[in-house]
Amino acid sequence: MSKRDYYEVLGVAKTASEGEIKKAYRKLAMKYHPDRNPDDKSAEDNFKEASEAYEVLSDSQKRATYDQFGHAGLDGQGGHGGGFGGGGFGDAFGDIFSEMFGGGFGGQRGPQPGNDLQYELEVSLEDAVAGTTVDIRIPTKDVCEACDGTGAEPGSDVETCPTCHGAGQVRMQQGFFAVNRTCPTCHGQGNIIKSPCKKCHGEGFTHSNKTLSVKIPAGVDTGDRIRLQGEGEAGEPGAPRGDLYVRIRVKKHPIFERDGNSLYCELPLSFATAALGGSVEVPTLGGKASLKVPAGTQSGQRFKLSGKGVKSVRSSYVGDLIVQVNIETPVKLTARQKELLQEFDESLQGKHYKQHSPKSHSFFDSVKSFFTGDDEGDKSSKKDDNGPWNG
Ligand SMILES: [Zn+2]
Ligand SMILES: [Zn+2]
Repeated sequence: MSKRDYYEVLGVAKTASEGEIKKAYRKLAMKYHPDRNPDDKSAEDNFKEASEAYEVLSDSQKRATYDQFGHAGLDGQGGHGGGFGGGGFGDAFGDIFSEMFGGGFGGQRGPQPGNDLQYELEVSLEDAVAGTTVDIRIPTKDVCEACDGTGAEPGSDVETCPTCHGAGQVRMQQGFFAVNRTCPTCHGQGNIIKSPCKKCHGEGFTHSNKTLSVKIPAGVDTGDRIRLQGEGEAGEPGAPRGDLYVRIRVKKHPIFERDGNSLYCELPLSFATAALGGSVEVPTLGGKASLKVPAGTQSGQRFKLSGKGVKSVRSSYVGDLIVQVNIETPVKLTARQKELLQEFDESLQGKHYKQHSPKSHSFFDSVKSFFTGDDEGDKSSKKDDNGPWNG
């Protein structure tokens, strides 16, 4: 089923202000609200469609995502449903409905939908990048089978509430306004149970645990949410179940760090390989790869391995792996190794030392001009060719 454009649903321009969006939604909500159109399926559908559009467009972050990616940007990735919580409408709707109905949602209390549940799921970087299926165990609230959710012991009488006559609400006059309040006698239930169901103790629901298999799409990152429609708590009889939101948290990886679709890692490189150049082995999430480092590679230099990063969860784009090399200083040298290094170091001295040491060259020139206030540090350093430090 293809969805209509949210702006079209609300009948506003793409450039509409927050106020215009709210006004447009309020008009539609008044017209199509289920309480005003009992048993009218098309009105209910219109109401749902408008509410969904408003939920997205009234949230600047979701609106930006929607503007950029369309419906696909919100599907299953936490774009949708963020405003709902606690089994009802979230903040975005609160003030609109209190304006419409003067406190309390709906003129008449219908069966309440089930609460949404949120589950925090920790996954490894490998699983987040490749995608996986995880079994999770969640608490579940179901309509009691013994009493069909009435809360009354089967066969026993349920009496209509004498205060509200079954409406669940009472009308009260407050100054100029008449407002509906939850009935204090039956607490909104509309009836009074004389002998509560033994299985659910009158609650109408039973509590247990269930195991769910959750498919984690490739490319998810910390903060992404996967929506499992209807896997939340049961609603009252006749009302829909809530949804389950699985919120992803990606564990820290010992080698890789992730930033969006890019992966970063540090690679120790021997001093000799850095100087001579060569081919080195680099870890990637998909196995080992080979990286050619040029002769004269400096510590901190970065190399890009295209397409070895993370596939975007929203498109087919695959990021890069950025490898930063760190030159490793050799330790615990033998006498012979020290001798070789000393000999090697001496070979670098002399009047051509600058061309072997590109960094110290410019660094010591800067230091010199810093201490002498001489901007032409380069010129003065030409006089002394004995070594880098000639203070
Ligand atoms: Zn029961
Ligand atoms: Zn009552």
